[in-house]
Amino acid sequence: MSTQKVAIVTGSARGIGAAVARRLASDGLAVAVLDLNADSCADTVKSITDAGGKAIAVGADVSDADSVAAAIDKVVAELGAPTVLINNAGIIRDNMLFKMTVDDWDSVMAVHLRGAFNMSKACQKHMVDAGWGRIVNLSSTSALGNRGQANYSAAKAGMQGFTKTLAIELGKFGITANAIAPGFIATDMTAATAARVGMDFEEFKKANAAAIPVARVGEPEDIAHTASFFASEGAGFVSGQVIYVAGGPRD
Ligand code: NAP
Repeated sequence: MSTQKVAIVTGSARGIGAAVARRLASDGLAVAVLDLNADSCADTVKSITDAGGKAIAVGADVSDADSVAAAIDKVVAELGAPTVLINNAGIIRDNMLFKMTVDDWDSVMAVHLRGAFNMSKACQKHMVDAGWGRIVNLSSTSALGNRGQANYSAAKAGMQGFTKTLAIELGKFGITANAIAPGFIATDMTAATAARVGMDFEEFKKANAAAIPVARVGEPEDIAHTASFFASEGAGFVSGQVIYVAGGPRD
């Protein structure tokens, strides 16, 4: 049996998740590239295997416990027990509170919070068995409040409380749980936000960069680098933390 560690990265067909999957693979882990549709994972898997890494595509809806259970079974059978979990899958359904529908609210809660819960619950028993594990949850600077994102900001603040509780409950099994709270990262998600406010994406990025101390917007690799640190062997004494990766301070 190989001693290669196995990671699952949710929502890794594109964007931040794809960059995290590639980075963990280059760190030497076997990676399950999980997204709603297995076919959409092909590009991420190919970029990993072309670079000499190991990856499989897994189709699953993280908000559905049965779908998650089937996905974990597939990962265990094809790669081995997952001991690194990156809860990255996410959606936005932005609107001002008075226009936000119950469906907008529930969909966002279901993917971010129920999704992270389903995945963490399903993976933790493999981590407990191994006496080692790393859980990394994607929060956001929106957790601090953001106009038009009552649902998303509540979910991303929720991810922080969830992370701290996992750290407390699972620490004695050698498992750490931490959260990354990105600022503006150039992906399809922020491109969709630009479209919603009627701005060209390049102009939108420039306008956002002007308010960021390091004078640029973030790239998915900025988040991948942080995830790699949290997943590393040496980060075993870092748990229950939220790190803002936003090109400047946040509190
Ligand atoms: P993205 O480009 O929209 O990618 C999100 C991925 O998640 C998509 O591939 C999507 O699949 C997948 N997904 C959605 N619902 C899912 C479900 N129920 N089950 C499995 N996969 C699902 O987003 P991103 O910008 O890379 O963001 C990644 C994470 O970082 C999210 O949690 C986001 O909230 C967070 N974040 C992003 C930013 C930013 O500036 N971009 C800032 C802070 C936090 P489909 O394509 O099939 O829908």
